[in-house]
Amino acid sequence: MVTRAQHNPMPPLNAYVSSLGGSPIRSLLSLAQDPDIISFGGGAPASESFDVEGIGKSYQRVLEEHGPRALQYSSTEGEPELRRAVAERMTYNGLYTEADDVLITSGSQQGLGLIGQVVLDPDSIVLTENPTFVSALQAFALSRAQFRPVDTDSGGLVPEALEAAILQYAPRAVYLIPTFQNPTGVTMPESRRREVADVLARYNVWLIEDDPYSELRYDEWTMTPISADPRLTHKSLYLGTLSKVMAPGLRIGWVRGPQEALDTLATTKQGTSLQTSTIDQLAAVDWLEHNDLDAKLVPIRAEYRRRRDAMVEGLDAVLPEGYTLNTPMGGMFLWATLPEPFDASESVMDAVRAGVVYIPGMQFYVADPKPSTLRLSFVSNPVDVIAQGLERLRTVFQ
Ligand code: PMP
Repeated sequence: MVTRAQHNPMPPLNAYVSSLGGSPIRSLLSLAQDPDIISFGGGAPASESFDVEGIGKSYQRVLEEHGPRALQYSSTEGEPELRRAVAERMTYNGLYTEADDVLITSGSQQGLGLIGQVVLDPDSIVLTENPTFVSALQAFALSRAQFRPVDTDSGGLVPEALEAAILQYAPRAVYLIPTFQNPTGVTMPESRRREVADVLARYNVWLIEDDPYSELRYDEWTMTPISADPRLTHKSLYLGTLSKVMAPGLRIGWVRGPQEALDTLATTKQGTSLQTSTIDQLAAVDWLEHNDLDAKLVPIRAEYRRRRDAMVEGLDAVLPEGYTLNTPMGGMFLWATLPEPFDASESVMDAVRAGVVYIPGMQFYVADPKPSTLRLSFVSNPVDVIAQGLERLRTVFQ
């Protein structure tokens, strides 16, 4: 029924969506916008690592070589050259992929949003690691999905617990970040991946494998994506991104999946954003063609490893005695647990007042949040700024 406007001239919004609220992490980080605050909060790559000059040249070349095509509408699925380059990189990293298996998205976050819309019905259950990436929960919540945690240990998701949860909850999907997980930094070993694939192969459940960090590894190994198991070809949706290896502001990511799902994801993308920016895609593929990504990643990995080590070493004099800390082999995050009775969500405002910010671990849980946990990003600041930030943090915990 249409009502006549009275005092409030604004018509109603979707009641469910407007009740959801935004990411608590984004609000915390906006509190800490002050340039004097040192942020160990967000997952921002080091801005010095961006190849500003090289990317500038790519935009220039794309405009010279493609002219108006670079500025024209283009396909929803993505520029063919970029889909090919992405497929080659995934194949190189152990996940055999054809260009047609790839849907380019505006960051992998858009991929998560599209997957939420296409795969999940209202009240669909999604199994997750606990804690997990908040913005994936945000994306899936728009479809009114419900979340159930699966037990994890130092090797990630426990396969027996996964099978028990599948039998108990009849989920539509399992959302996993098997490599350098956000927020815990945990990586699932190869043997565990096979066991997880064994379980998933037995049930009619989607695997949503989110893999933004695997290129940021600080040791000489690669992990095969779970999605590479041929038994999962028709039930896996794998997400990748250029955000952590090139630049997050480009907003270029992708979803790899079975054709029928990709078609529906593409039609949904048509109704959402039509396409990912033509010129940005062409510049990205130009940059990938004119640069050796592995060579580019060598100094970035070395610097991030230095920053990780500096933060791990420095934290010992900062966190209260009895703390535990993971040392991830890659990615961006350290995950700490404080001894009782410390509460990282209460201390965070003291930290902000002291001029430093981290993310309280509470925010990342789908169940049984642990107030004693916190996430610290070690990549965003150079070693001397990390030391300065830790000195400020010491005044909060000591
Ligand atoms: N998945 C995970 C686990 C992430 O940590 C992030 C970025 N913080 C994303 C997806 C989104 O990345 P983007 O949209 O920049 O590709």
